[in-house]
Amino acid sequence: MKRILIVALQQEVSSFNPVRSTRADFEEHLAQNMRQTFAGTDTYAGGALKVLDGAEDVTPICVYSATACSAGTLQHEDFLALKTALLDAVRAQLADGIDGILFLLHGAMATTAETDPEGDILEAVRALVGPKPAFAMSLDLHGILTARMIAACPAFETLRTYPHVDFADTGARAARMMLRLLREDLSPVVARLRIPMLVRGDACITETGIYGQYMARAVARAASDGLLAATVMIGNPFTDVPELCCQVLAISDGDAEKADAAVRDIADGFFDHRATMQADLVSLNDAVALARDGRFPLILKDAADAPSSGASGDSAELIHALLDADVTATILAPIVDAPTVARAFELGVGVTACFHLGGSCDRRFAPVRVKAKVAMLSDGHYRMETWGTWDSAGPCAKLRSGNLTVIASTRPVQLFDRSLFFGHGEDPRDFDITVVKSPHCQHRYFDAWADTVVSVDAQGATSARVETLGHKLCQRPIYPLDPIDTFTPQIEIFR
Ligand SMILES: [Zn+2]
Repeated sequence: MKRILIVALQQEVSSFNPVRSTRADFEEHLAQNMRQTFAGTDTYAGGALKVLDGAEDVTPICVYSATACSAGTLQHEDFLALKTALLDAVRAQLADGIDGILFLLHGAMATTAETDPEGDILEAVRALVGPKPAFAMSLDLHGILTARMIAACPAFETLRTYPHVDFADTGARAARMMLRLLREDLSPVVARLRIPMLVRGDACITETGIYGQYMARAVARAASDGLLAATVMIGNPFTDVPELCCQVLAISDGDAEKADAAVRDIADGFFDHRATMQADLVSLNDAVALARDGRFPLILKDAADAPSSGASGDSAELIHALLDADVTATILAPIVDAPTVARAFELGVGVTACFHLGGSCDRRFAPVRVKAKVAMLSDGHYRMETWGTWDSAGPCAKLRSGNLTVIASTRPVQLFDRSLFFGHGEDPRDFDITVVKSPHCQHRYFDAWADTVVSVDAQGATSARVETLGHKLCQRPIYPLDPIDTFTPQIEIFR
C-alpha cells in the first residue's frame, strides 16, 4: 500500500487590510482530528479523502491542516510557527515511508516577510522528504500560482467555479491526479501564460460571466488533448505579490508543445475582456437614492469591506450614508467591532446606550455613533448556511437603533451567505435593506428574492476599484492599474 499524506494550509490575504493576521486566526487539526473534521464535508480534504479512501492501492493519511478566514497579511513569525507545525507533522511520518503528499492550498497567502509562503512550504517539505515522494496540490482560482510553486509541484488542480461550489470536487480531482502520479510513469510539464490584468465583478461569475466560458474552454481542452489538467486562474487582486495577475495553465505528460498550444488557444481573446471584467459599481449617493425610491428588498453589497476577500469588515460607511439621509426603511447590517461588542456585554441585554459602530480596525473608516438597545448577546457560534459547518465570529451583540439592526461581531467571518444573520435570529427577507459584505453570493441567498441588488462604491481593503488601493509589488504594467491595451504573450514552460 502506498502512503499518501494530506496536508492543508489555506488563507487568502488582502495586503490593504491594516490588521495583521496571526496563528490564532487559523483552525489547526492534526491526524485523526483532521480526518474527523473534514471527512464527508464539501471541502478539498473531504473530496480528496473520498477518492483516496476508495482506492485499493493507497493509504491516505491526514497529517496537518491549518485554515483561516481571509484576512490581512500574516505575521511572519506566525507563519514560521505554522510551517514548523506542518513540517513536524510530516517528519513524524518519515519512518513509515511516504509515497506521495497531497497539498490542499489556497494560493493567496502572504506574510510580512514572504510574498510566496506556499512556495516556501513546498520547497521546505521537498527538502525534508527528499526527491522521491510525488507531490500534487489543489488551489483556489483566486490563488497566485508562482514559478517557485510550479517548480516544486508541477501537478495541480484548481477550483473551477465562482462563487465557489466545487471544493470537494477539486480535492477529488487533485487526489485522482496524485493516484495517476503514483500508478503511471508521468512527467508533468506545465505551460503558463501570465496575462497582465486584475479582474473583478460579475464577469467573474463562472455560471453567467465571460470567465466561466474560458474556464469551460480549459476543461474541454484538457479532455480533448488528454492533458493532466488545464485551468484559468484570476488571482485575488488584493494580494499584492510579484506574480499577481491572471494565468492560463496547462499540464501535459511530457509534451511541452501540446501544453504550450493548449494555453495559447485557451487564452485567446481573454485580454480583450479586461474592461468588462471589472466591477459595475453604484455611487453611495445612488445607493441612497434606491433606498429613498423604495426599491425593496434592496441588497447593498459592500464588497470593498468583504472579509471573504481579506478586508477587516469594520466599515460603517453604508450605515452612515443611510442614516445621514434619514432613510426610514428597515436596515440589517453586519459589522466587525470588538470594542462595541465588549461594551454591549458589559451593559447587558435590554440596556440602551450610545455605541460607536465601525472604524475599530481600519482607520480609513469613520465610526458612526448611534443610540441603540442591546437586543441579544451571543458566543458567536453559528452554523454556516453554505457548508453546514460551524463558524465562530467570537462574542457577538445584536444592536437595535430605530429602523437599524446591526449584528456586531468580535472577529471577521465570511459573509457571503446569511448565516451570521440567521444565527442571531434575523432573516434578511424581513428587512427592506440588507448590507452584504461580499462581492458575490450564491443566487438563492439574496438575488433570488431581492428587488434590487447593487455593489456600492465604498472604501475598503477590497475595493473593486483596485487602482485606488496602492499596489506596490505586483508586476507592472498591469490593467487596470496601468492603461495598457496590448501585451505580447510569452509562454513559460516548466519541466
Ligand atoms: Zn476564491
